[in-house]
Amino acid sequence: MTWLVRSDALRASEVIREKVASHPAIHVEFETGVEGFEGARSKLEAVLVRNTRTGKSARLDLRSAFVFVGLDPNTAFLAGSAVRLDAGGFVVTGHPLIHEGDRPAGFEGREPAMLETSTPGVFAAGDVRAGSTKQVASAAGEGAAAALMIRQHLEAA
Ligand SMILES: Cc1cc2nc3c(=O)[nH]c(=O)nc-3n(C[C@H](O)[C@H](O)[C@H](O)COP(=O)(O)OP(=O)(O)OC[C@H]3O[C@@H](n4cnc5c(N)ncnc54)[C@H](O)[C@@H]3O)c2cc1C
Repeated sequence: MTWLVRSDALRASEVIREKVASHPAIHVEFETGVEGFEGARSKLEAVLVRNTRTGKSARLDLRSAFVFVGLDPNTAFLAGSAVRLDAGGFVVTGHPLIHEGDRPAGFEGREPAMLETSTPGVFAAGDVRAGSTKQVASAAGEGAAAALMIRQHLEAA
């Protein structure tokens, strides 16, 4: 298995980096960006890559590719709404709404709940939330916590 990594190092935790480095079946090509895919009859035949430092191009004969590049939250539909997003498009919730920007309207008399957005009564959980851990257990836990916070919000309304 070949991993193509754009930067000159893996950004995973140290234990994962060590496992990858010592794994006999994993070969990592650093400073390598994907330029394109070549194929025929709906089948992949090659991946076109370029070294991000030297600019040198290469063609890797590969029959399968798994793409995992960053995280792009699907929050475009919130642009222009009162739900505050950070620079990466993640939904800001809780404490940072009060302490890292103007206090949002509707929170004059109280703090937003941990998973509450800048719109009172609107909650966010999981990967879409700014500062979340991007781990499945946390996402599921936040979902359950958000449900309880919604109930609490409705009971207080
Ligand atoms: C390749 C890969 C490997 C991973 N490995 C691990 C791992 O080993 N351990 C771990 O803990 N975590 C892992 N994760 C992270 C984990 O998958 C996420 O943290 C978790 O799935 C986040 O759950 P979520 O519900 O917040 O978001 P998602 O699982 O992304 O769910 C969001 C859902 O909302 C839907 N949606 C999006 N926009 C809209 C819209 N406008 N309207 C309606 N629905 C919409 C999407 O279709 C999707 O079904 C991995 C992630 C990836 C991509």
